[in-house]
Amino acid sequence: MTADMGRRYRLYPAEDQAQRLASWGHTCRWLYNTALEQRQFAWQQRRATLGVAVQCASLTEARKELDWVADLPAQSGQQVLRQLDQAYRNWWDPQHPAGAPTRKRRSARLSVPFPGQAIAVRRVNRRWGVVSLPKIGEVRFRWSRPLGGAVRNAVVSFDGVAWHVGFGVHAGVKTPEAHAQPGTVVGVDRGVKVALAMSDGRMWNRMFTRPGQERELARLKSAAGRQETARRKHGTKTSNRARKIRAEIARTEAKIRNRRRDFVMWAANRLCAQHAVVKLERLPVIAMTATAKGTIAEPGVNVRQKAGLNRAILDKGWGLFETALANRARVTGTRIARVPAAFTSQRCSRCGYTDRNNRESQAMFRCGSCGYQANADVNAAINVRDAAEAASPLPGRAVRDRDRKVPCRPPTQRRSRTALEAGISRL
Ligand SMILES: [Zn+2]
Repeated sequence: MTADMGRRYRLYPAEDQAQRLASWGHTCRWLYNTALEQRQFAWQQRRATLGVAVQCASLTEARKELDWVADLPAQSGQQVLRQLDQAYRNWWDPQHPAGAPTRKRRSARLSVPFPGQAIAVRRVNRRWGVVSLPKIGEVRFRWSRPLGGAVRNAVVSFDGVAWHVGFGVHAGVKTPEAHAQPGTVVGVDRGVKVALAMSDGRMWNRMFTRPGQERELARLKSAAGRQETARRKHGTKTSNRARKIRAEIARTEAKIRNRRRDFVMWAANRLCAQHAVVKLERLPVIAMTATAKGTIAEPGVNVRQKAGLNRAILDKGWGLFETALANRARVTGTRIARVPAAFTSQRCSRCGYTDRNNRESQAMFRCGSCGYQANADVNAAINVRDAAEAASPLPGRAVRDRDRKVPCRPPTQRRSRTALEAGISRL
């Protein structure tokens, strides 16, 4: 009975509960980073891969020596180590898009995991429920939707705006053999200007930042940067004012992220409900950053800032979009297909003529051969719909620098499995 569904609720801890949860959140991050370093060190020094059992033993030692580590419930600590192990497994899995595990940053969302046996969930009335957490006791949460199954685990998190509790629920979801509307295929183009364009001409877009919010964020960030420089120069502690600004940045970013998350979930739900096959471009993230950089022949204005913004906002959103699609697809029976990304925005969807000049502007597509006119993103989406699926079973894995730098995987695993898939092992 594993969790096959996620349920997230707004959590309302009391002041002292919130403080303790926050301190546990920082401990969890420290533990994750330390365990990651331990694994990297073991690999670099003696080509050894540390497993969860070994690291749990180290955790037990650390709990004896450090009070603040001992304060974190042991089961939560073990859960963090299991998460790290899973991050490694994902990295080694050629079918999984994840790169090498990386350190969690201080600015990341605080989160504390709990295994199912450590917690208990109870409904109090129509609006409220309580979750019993080890050492802290009962914490209220807003019962905004049915649980839908047995609770297998929980994650308590703080994103800068509010506390949430997410439950992994075993709902017994079975993927249907066939989609309710068989034969419905849609191509999706993910863009910068229009968030999602569909091959049937629909375009979905949202503003994720409120007017002036971008400038406000830039102002706050430069203030935070100045404070940090001054703090380093004088070797002092972080001031309360600096903390306030950091919290304000986190709050603003969380709001933007929540809006995007809402849009992405909504879109994934809709696409899966309406279509038996959803086709996407492979490697959208790389394609997008490449566009942002521009070409040597045509360098854009403010490209770098724009690229930074795109990466900051879109990168995360699109990763989540793929996850959301995969989750909904399990419920509706939709198949998610990926096609090569090359030239989808430059090729005419009617006659196939491919030329960079076909794309008159960000929004306008006009074929230089047959004169076909369309919205540029919709034209790209039609190309995605009609393209043959990517030949390799591997999903696009972004080869990042950090993947190459950290030599901490067993030497055999990934290579042999990839080779097997390509049929090279038969040679
Ligand atoms: Zn044409």
